[in-house]
Formats: sequence, structure tokens, C-alpha cells
Amino acid sequence: MRRKLAAGNWKMNGTKANIAVIRDLAQAHPSPMVDVLICPPATLVAACAGHAPVAIGGQDCHAAAKGAHTGDISAPMLADAGATHVILGHSERRVDHGETDELVAAKAEAAMAARLVPVVCCGESLDEREEGMTLDVIGAQLAGSIPNGADGSLIVAYEPIWAIGTGKVPTLEQIAEVHDFMRRVLVDRFGAAGDEMRLLYGGSVKSGNAAEIFAVGNVDGALVGGASLQVADFSPIITALEAS
Ligand code: PEP
Repeated sequence: MRRKLAAGNWKMNGTKANIAVIRDLAQAHPSPMVDVLICPPATLVAACAGHAPVAIGGQDCHAAAKGAHTGDISAPMLADAGATHVILGHSERRVDHGETDELVAAKAEAAMAARLVPVVCCGESLDEREEGMTLDVIGAQLAGSIPNGADGSLIVAYEPIWAIGTGKVPTLEQIAEVHDFMRRVLVDRFGAAGDEMRLLYGGSVKSGNAAEIFAVGNVDGALVGGASLQVADFSPIITALEAS
């Protein structure tokens, strides 16, 4: 049985004042029936850690454990700061920083070596969807971005690029099609571990649409951007996931 996960991605938002959000979330959900994860900016990871049951993750890491990489952060550094997870291959990193599937896989290897759980993101652009290429794109991203050594703890987030921060959400049928496809691909490749991997949907998840998305088969939770910044927005999403 896969335990559900409500994950938040704060992106490049938040200063010390936002640490209170983590504290308040932990107080609002002292023993949730689902896992709760927030990935704040790297500057806040250490300060946000230690507010169980809210787990803390990074938003990216370098593929190397240390070295001459000015401005980068390694997986062991995130773990040292108290992170337990790290988002990898988010479309904003793929687009803004030219990250390839190969690089994402190398980062995932580094994360696993540091005992961080990788949250590997995939998703098609609007053009790719309109050209009927969605499953080809997702299949290639899964094949290239998930390392062979992955175990059942690895998490995959399906985030259609056109749904991120836009208020546009795929139909439930479209979400189901991709999630069922991802499950088949992962089971084919990893066997039982592929069945254990949690599959998150991400892209304009809000309290108003969370319940119907969580009712879709093979959706094991959500990766939430904008609606994870405030307790008032994220808390109902956690509650909807608990009820699913
Ligand atoms: C995200 O970027 O991970 C995301 C899902 O953003 P939003 O929920 O704001 O669409």
C-alpha cells in the first residue's frame, strides 16, 4: 500500500518569515494520515527542518558530492541541513537551465547516495500534447531521468508544463491516462519497486480541485506550487488527500 504524499514546492519564494508556515502546518496536522513535504528555497532548508511531521526537501542538487561548482548545492549538503527529499528535473530547471534527462539521472544517483529521496519530475509542453506526443515524451523522460539503481522510495511527479502556475488543469481522463502509463512503464522496468514508487500529479492543484484529482487511480498525491505557500491553501489539500 503506497502512503500518500502532499508535497509543496516553494520555488524562489520565501524568507525567514515563512518558517512560520512550516511550524503552523505541523501544528495544524500533528499526525496526518499522509506524508507532508515542503521544499523551500535552499536558504531555508536548515531553518525549516525539525518541524515533524513536515518533512523538508531541496529543489535541486548538483550531481557531484562536492567540488568547484560555485553557487551549487550538493545532495550531502542538503541532507546535512536536514532535508530528506529533493525535487529533480522540474520543468523550470529543464527550461531555465537546460537540464537534460541524463543530468537529472546523475543528480538522482547523487541524491540516493546521500540518502535523499528523489522526486523526479516529468511533463509535456502544450505543443507536445497538441501533437499527440504526451506519452512518448513522458516515456522518454522516465527512461532517461530515473537511474537503474532506483528503489521503490523514488517518487515521480507528473507535471504538464502548460498546467504549472496557469490555473489550467488536464482533464481527469488525461491525468489517469498518464499516471496509468507511468505505472506500467515503471513496473515493466523495476518490477515490485515500480509498483511502490509514488506518482504525484502537479500543476495548478488547489483546494477546489484536489479531491477529484486524488480520486484518480495511480495518483498518490500532489506536488503543489503556489498553493503550498500559505497554510490556509495547503492545509485543505492535505485534508483532501487524507480523505481520498
Ligand atoms: C510546480 O511548479 O511544481 C507546480 C505544480 O506549480 P503550481 O501548483 O503553482 O502550478
